[in-house]
Amino acid sequence: MTEGPFDVAVVGAGAAGLLAAAFAAGDGRKVVLLERTRDGGRKILISGGGRCNILPSEVEPEWFVTDSSPHSLRNILRTWPLPEQRRFFETELGIPLALEAESGKLFPASNRARDVRDRLVDHALVRGAVIRYGALLEGLHPADDGWALSLAGGGVLHATTVVIATGGLSVPATGSDGSGMQLVKGLGHAMHPTYPALTPLTTTVQHWTALSGVSLDALLTAPPETPRYSRRQGLLFTHRGFSGPAILNISHLWTRPRGGARPPILAQWGALGRGDWERELGGGRAQVATVVRRHLPERLALALLEEAGVPADRGLAQLRREEREALLVALTALPLPVTGDEGYKKAEVTGGGVALSEIDPVTMESRRAPGLFLCGEVLDAFGPIGGFNFLWAWATGRAAGLGAARRVTP
Ligand SMILES: Cc1cc2nc3c(=O)[nH]c(=O)nc-3n(C[C@H](O)[C@H](O)[C@H](O)COP(=O)(O)OP(=O)(O)OC[C@H]3O[C@@H](n4cnc5c(N)ncnc54)[C@H](O)[C@@H]3O)c2cc1C
Repeated sequence: MTEGPFDVAVVGAGAAGLLAAAFAAGDGRKVVLLERTRDGGRKILISGGGRCNILPSEVEPEWFVTDSSPHSLRNILRTWPLPEQRRFFETELGIPLALEAESGKLFPASNRARDVRDRLVDHALVRGAVIRYGALLEGLHPADDGWALSLAGGGVLHATTVVIATGGLSVPATGSDGSGMQLVKGLGHAMHPTYPALTPLTTTVQHWTALSGVSLDALLTAPPETPRYSRRQGLLFTHRGFSGPAILNISHLWTRPRGGARPPILAQWGALGRGDWERELGGGRAQVATVVRRHLPERLALALLEEAGVPADRGLAQLRREEREALLVALTALPLPVTGDEGYKKAEVTGGGVALSEIDPVTMESRRAPGLFLCGEVLDAFGPIGGFNFLWAWATGRAAGLGAARRVTP
């Protein structure tokens, strides 16, 4: 069966596609939103631990990671500045936002991700978009006056413009399995290699997995590649390795080796830096273990002493010079014994994707395939934990929707 023609077909009802459909619709334009799952927006539902960290409270373009030009990335982010995004959600969608002061994250005041997903779906429908669930795009071909979209099961749909918002490869159970990326690649777009990002790291070293359940703040660095946003954040020991925001935010340096090399990820545990520890371990009658335990969780303190080869009953006064140095390293620059990662199964985002040079940074229109627009995680950029990835999805989704609408409006 052949359907259409539609003015705009948006593929993927995730964060980017829902915005694209809403902004493309209006003024009588025929907009269809195709979504392979039964409901769409599944990543929104599981985001922020079910609370949806909808936006950050501040943003610097340098905090995003891309293999494309940082200049293009900056131009894209400029299309919809953070204060305007915030206003859209609060005023236009009527979702009051609340700031979590210690993290700088914005959540819906209701703390319910479902409210965000449902409100976005309503908004797209009210604007006049039609949503087709259970519609899996399998083929995309230029046709007379636009595009032919082949759906699983045999249907073909015609549209003047197409917005691809099919996401990346992370958490495939939410519907994003990279099929959209493959279609875009098949049309000749340059891609940067993809890799899981914001994903937990694993270790096979039992000494470390035995710390499962311990959590604390840690500052992770990976000279010379330490991400610009790196700061002291939560780290959680799991039965498989390491998780928490500090780990997720640096995980791409492990999952995306450059030239086959991975920088060591160095941990400074807790709040004290090297100078503080030098003072703490300077002398006195206490045992070394007592001093370390004062500042760090007990189990970690003992593991670090073992790592440094310092007997647990060693007194500060008896600490040998090389033991002291080894302990200072273990406390402030310990190379994490990472041996693997949790991959796309647990990755919050996909790194790499369609090169930003392939699209117009204002309209998101492909430079290779006129009438085709790209947005969201399908593109080569991601940000740290903290609402930055939705910010990217909202900004690029809106720009692509407006771009597609402009293309069909005489
Ligand atoms: C556990 C978890 C928690 C997260 N928490 C946060 C958070 O709190 N804050 C934040 O900013 N970011 C968070 N993120 C990241 C954020 O969810 C993503 O960056 C964002 O959802 C990407 O939006 P998208 O629309 O590009 O892709 P997606 O949300 O992946 O949407 C793609 C849609 O396209 C559909 N689709 C795919 N292929 C096809 C096809 N061939 N045909 C038809 N439909 C198709 C999929 O079913 C899906 O609905 C989290 C991610 C995860 C996994």
